[in-house]
Amino acid sequence: MLNDSTKHKGLRNQLVDTIERKGIKDKKVLEAIRNIPRHLFMDSGFIDFAYQDKPFPIAAEQTISQPYTVAFQTELLQVKPKDKILEVGTGSGYQAAVLIEMGAEVYSIERQKELFNKTRKFLPKIGYVPKKLIYGDGYKGLTEKAPFDSIIVTAGAPFVPKALLKQLKINGRLVIPVGENTQKMTLIIRKSEKEFEKHEFGDFRFVPMLKEVEKK
Ligand code: SAH
Repeated sequence: MLNDSTKHKGLRNQLVDTIERKGIKDKKVLEAIRNIPRHLFMDSGFIDFAYQDKPFPIAAEQTISQPYTVAFQTELLQVKPKDKILEVGTGSGYQAAVLIEMGAEVYSIERQKELFNKTRKFLPKIGYVPKKLIYGDGYKGLTEKAPFDSIIVTAGAPFVPKALLKQLKINGRLVIPVGENTQKMTLIIRKSEKEFEKHEFGDFRFVPMLKEVEKK
């Protein structure tokens, strides 16, 4: 089942050409996408769709992001080997695999138990070992491992959570899609303890970043 054929590799080369044409320039991002067997992150019935530049349903009504979106966010992170990166929204683990492939140390938080369990078992099976996967609420970040070189949020956030800003190193980068129905891709760079620089990019559409289920 976990095989990666010449056919899949060929389709991946075409996918990389497509996202390069759409404007992705970072060679290390493109190489990571070329190397990772995206079809293995999707339920078997959808394997034929794995190398179209489209998002796709995974478990628990969530989606694996469109490859172009993954590339766009990753390019904004300016990943360097050994960077300590926090991801909010583990989902299928594909984005985490891209970061690991680029040499980063990845911590990733997921609030859906089913996905958390599935991805925790799956990623090491195909050779991608995160530093830690956490079942929890991404709005809180991960205080005990902060500060991070960068933080990536892969769900649509209604606002920028303060906790995430606090957990950035100086010169650290937060890439987060902000908005309710559609989201503006937003890059925030921490210039000093108190100063943050904000850059906005195009519109994207993500599944919503949800609040923790209230405990009664
Ligand atoms: N990075 C994923 C994309 C998954 S979609 C991939 O490559 O496949 C976004 C994910 O964010 C979903 O799995 C969703 O359950 C999760 N999510 C939503 N709100 C969250 C929150 N508050 N904390 C952590 N994860 C959250």
